[in-house]
Amino acid sequence: MSQSVIQIEHLTHSYGQRPALDDLSLSINSGEIFGFLGPNGSGKTTLFRILSTLLGVGQGTVHILDLDLSVQRDEIRRQIGVVFQSPSLDKQLTSVENLRCQGHLYGLRGAELDARIEEMLRRVSMAERQNELLSRFSGGQRRRVELAKGLLHKPRILLLDEPSTGLDPGARIDLWRYLQEIRKLDGVTILLTTHLMDEADRCDRLAILDHGKLVACDTPSVLKERIGGDVIALISDKADDLRKAVKEKFGVEAAEFGSELRIERQRGHEFIPQLVEAFPGMIQSVSLGKPTLEDVFIQVTGHRFVDAE
Ligand code: ADP
Repeated sequence: MSQSVIQIEHLTHSYGQRPALDDLSLSINSGEIFGFLGPNGSGKTTLFRILSTLLGVGQGTVHILDLDLSVQRDEIRRQIGVVFQSPSLDKQLTSVENLRCQGHLYGLRGAELDARIEEMLRRVSMAERQNELLSRFSGGQRRRVELAKGLLHKPRILLLDEPSTGLDPGARIDLWRYLQEIRKLDGVTILLTTHLMDEADRCDRLAILDHGKLVACDTPSVLKERIGGDVIALISDKADDLRKAVKEKFGVEAAEFGSELRIERQRGHEFIPQLVEAFPGMIQSVSLGKPTLEDVFIQVTGHRFVDAE
């Protein structure tokens, strides 16, 4: 059985009267790539700031590698690496110069530091360009140097805030390749926040947050399988009438979002012709798909991801 490296129990945080995290409890296992998925305002940044020791633990407890986050922040800081969403590198310096500054913060010096810098830049395939100014790099390349910076002191846990935001699709795929490799080669447990479904889909396990609450936690495939069957999406300019008519004729509940109705159903392809024949002129378009994390979000919260934002 996997060893738990982070335990969060009843974590609650408010800014004045405004709740940001509401009684959050979960545990993260060693070597996992664990994602916190939620729309804007769901509490991801607050949680990230607490776990990275930038914000105090309000109510509840957090243990990281058996250390109590309320009282052992310095010890925890040595064990975690943090990659922020906003760039933390100086573009007028080279990768080596940036990483050297970081190394000094952790008391690393001389040949040991140089070797470590080389090793980490190699890990993200940026060693060959180590003496070029960062201003010459693409966004994806800079993010990889950020990754090397976060790993420089060999943390056991790496925290990343919205790592793919602002990267083009190719750079996203690249970044994920490096994250997988870091986990495999260094055994680092990786935690990340995201509001991107495709990024969330790549995690080993996911915690879905909505308005500061944990609404689901499992592997992406188990979360999607729980919906069962297919998802039929109908577009109608009489969506409310159609929803009532579908319920009356077939006894099937559809979720209504503006002009869209979504129906979860086994063998959806067999149901579509029945719908189209039963309600001529009421359906403008139909699509059939396997459940996505968006469908999971709708099922557990009753509203759409974008609407939550
Ligand atoms: P996310 O990262 O998922 O967008 P946040 O943790 O930033 O979520 O925000 C959660 C809630 O806390 C939101 O309602 C947000 O408006 C509020 N909030 C975040 N930071 C502050 C702050 N510094 N002061 C007051 N309210 C805040």
